[in-house]
Amino acid sequence: MALNARLDHRNPLVFDTHELGRRPGALQRLNRTIDAPKDLGLKDVIEVPEGAPVELELRLESVMEGVLVTGTARAQAEGECVRCLEPLQLDVEADFQEMFSYPEADERGRAKSRSDEDAADDEDDEDRLFVEDGLFDLEPVLRDAVVLALPMQPVCQEDCPGLCAECGVRLADDPDHHHDAVDIRWAALQGLAGSLEDGEKDEMSGAEPGVDEKQEK
Ligand SMILES: [Zn+2]
Ligand SMILES: [Zn+2]
Repeated sequence: MALNARLDHRNPLVFDTHELGRRPGALQRLNRTIDAPKDLGLKDVIEVPEGAPVELELRLESVMEGVLVTGTARAQAEGECVRCLEPLQLDVEADFQEMFSYPEADERGRAKSRSDEDAADDEDDEDRLFVEDGLFDLEPVLRDAVVLALPMQPVCQEDCPGLCAECGVRLADDPDHHHDAVDIRWAALQGLAGSLEDGEKDEMSGAEPGVDEKQEK
C-alpha cells in the first residue's frame, strides 16, 4: 500500500538514504530545519503553527532489514490555557525511533510468516513504514511524536488558578480577587438599614425624584 505513493525528494520531510548505504552498521547524522506541516499537534488544543520552524536531529542507522531512524524534533507550539483561556506558547521536544523497512525484507517476512498468523501479520503491515527508492517519509513519525509530546490539557502555568466563576476575571492577574456573596448581601442589608434610619422620612416624602430632576436640568 505504502509503495503506491511515490515519495517526492523535494518534500523536506522526505529523507534520502543513498548516502547512508545499505551496509549494516553504517551511521549517518542529519540536522534539518523544516517548516511545520499543516495540523501538527492536537487540533484546537495546542499545535505547532503551519510554517513554524521545526528543528530535526536525526540519526540513521543501516540495519539488515532497513533503516532505523532515531531522532528529536524541537518546535514551539501555540494553544490556549484550558483554565484561564489565555494564549500560551510551549517549547516541544519530541523524541522518536522508527524502523523503515526495505520492501524486499517485508516480502521475505511475509513468506516466512504466511503459515503462522496471517491476520496478525497483516495488521502489523498497516503500521509498517518503508524505504522507497532509497527515500523515507518522516511525516507520520513526526506527527505521532509531536502529539505524544504535547499536553492534552495545556496550562499557562502549573498552578494557574483559572477564571473567577462569578465574574470571569483571570485570577492569576488578580490573586486577591474574591467575591463573598454573604458579605455582599450583608452590605446591601446594612446599606438598606442605614438608609431607613437616616432618610426614611425623606424617601417616603418623595425627596429623591426631586433631586433627580434638579440633576438633569
Ligand atoms: Zn492559565
Ligand atoms: Zn470575580
